[in-house]
Amino acid sequence: MNAVKRVGETDVAIVGAGILGLSHAYAAASRGLRVTVFERTGTPTGASIRNFGQVLVTGQPPGEMLTLAKTSRGIWKHWAEHAGFFAREAGCLLFARTDAEVAVIDEFVATRASQQGYDVERLDQSQVAALYDGRFAHHKAALHGREDMQVFSREALPAIIEYLRTHLGVEFVFDTLVKNVADGYLETTTGEWHAAHIVVCSGHDYLTLLSDALAPLGPRVCRLQMLRVKPTRDIAVRHALLTGLSCLHYGAFSDLSSAQALHEEVLATDPALLDEGIHLLASPAPDGSVIIGDSHDYNPDPMPFNEEQVDQHLLRLAERLFDEPLQIMQRWQGVYGSRAANVNRPFSVLKASRGVTGVWMHTGVGMSVGPGIGESVIAEIVEGRMRSAA
Ligand SMILES: Cc1cc2nc3c(=O)[nH]c(=O)nc-3n(C[C@H](O)[C@H](O)[C@H](O)COP(=O)(O)OP(=O)(O)OC[C@H]3O[C@@H](n4cnc5c(N)ncnc54)[C@H](O)[C@@H]3O)c2cc1C
Repeated sequence: MNAVKRVGETDVAIVGAGILGLSHAYAAASRGLRVTVFERTGTPTGASIRNFGQVLVTGQPPGEMLTLAKTSRGIWKHWAEHAGFFAREAGCLLFARTDAEVAVIDEFVATRASQQGYDVERLDQSQVAALYDGRFAHHKAALHGREDMQVFSREALPAIIEYLRTHLGVEFVFDTLVKNVADGYLETTTGEWHAAHIVVCSGHDYLTLLSDALAPLGPRVCRLQMLRVKPTRDIAVRHALLTGLSCLHYGAFSDLSSAQALHEEVLATDPALLDEGIHLLASPAPDGSVIIGDSHDYNPDPMPFNEEQVDQHLLRLAERLFDEPLQIMQRWQGVYGSRAANVNRPFSVLKASRGVTGVWMHTGVGMSVGPGIGESVIAEIVEGRMRSAA
């Protein structure tokens, strides 16, 4: 016997309860709109709970991404206070081990940081040695980004959902696949809905919805290997941790002239790290364990097979960072949406039709900029409707 299907109506329908979907839901509900979020699983299990939880301001390239990250930081701070989840606001520490890594920090501080409004401080060797009982004293220098935050995503996402539901009246329809969207209409596995506007935030699912709009982007996925490790000594680190390799990965640093010399140094000394797209990040979790990663493998389809050698590289780099043996507690694979080499924007907002907008990240910084993107997309939709009603 078929279950009874529901017919519903809302102002804004959001597809996907990852960080992008929740950010759009928050922006719309804050404006007094009725919001309904559809999620095919019973709780979010996508990129948004598999990540480091770093709300990275310092790593963003200057311009739009830096502005979005700063806006997002304010929203994360509000959520952490009102939804009551673990969040660290001490900022990040990017440790430099070699002279080439120090040179990138120095060039960044001397040029871009002051010109573009990054709130950072350079720490010399003695300042680094004074941190955390000298645990990181084997590094030559560090960059302290004061604006970065860090959350524990697997707890933060459910807490945001609860906050949106109880404080802003957002309705969540879980275990429901949205099969089709058209102007003002959604067909789902549990019923039919009418909505004044639909925002599709479907992560790296490129086939179920809006596949025609997505095809020209040449969508691909990036597969990342991640570990959660336990240090032998109590760590109690309050900062999100980045390493010199991060300078090759993040747009704030990667186009600086000193980054080229760093790239050559890594190529000469540890080329496997470049082959596997490895750059070490570490996020201390609330229980004293640490999330470490990651590697980057770009493909049209994510292969399910993890390479043990990648985990071993990550473990080696993390043990070097913390200067002690680490015990592996968990391993997992993260997947996020990427794009073809000829599409160089970090995210896309596509108006698929008058009442349907699709929003997708193409780089691995959705936690850092997603809330800001949600704010600007919803503002545009609401103002656009007010303009056409006038
Ligand atoms: C290992 C890893 C580490 C990362 N670290 C960081 C970090 O520290 N900082 C940072 O800023 N970013 C980080 N990122 C990137 C960030 O996690 C992503 O950019 C972000 O989570 C993407 O959010 P999303 O909402 O688009 O996708 P998702 O979180 O994947 O959510 C999409 C949701 O849509 C649902 N969905 C899809 N289609 C349908 C449908 N038809 N009907 C119903 N539901 C549907 C899916 O089930 C899913 O829950 C990392 C990513 C990974 C994988």
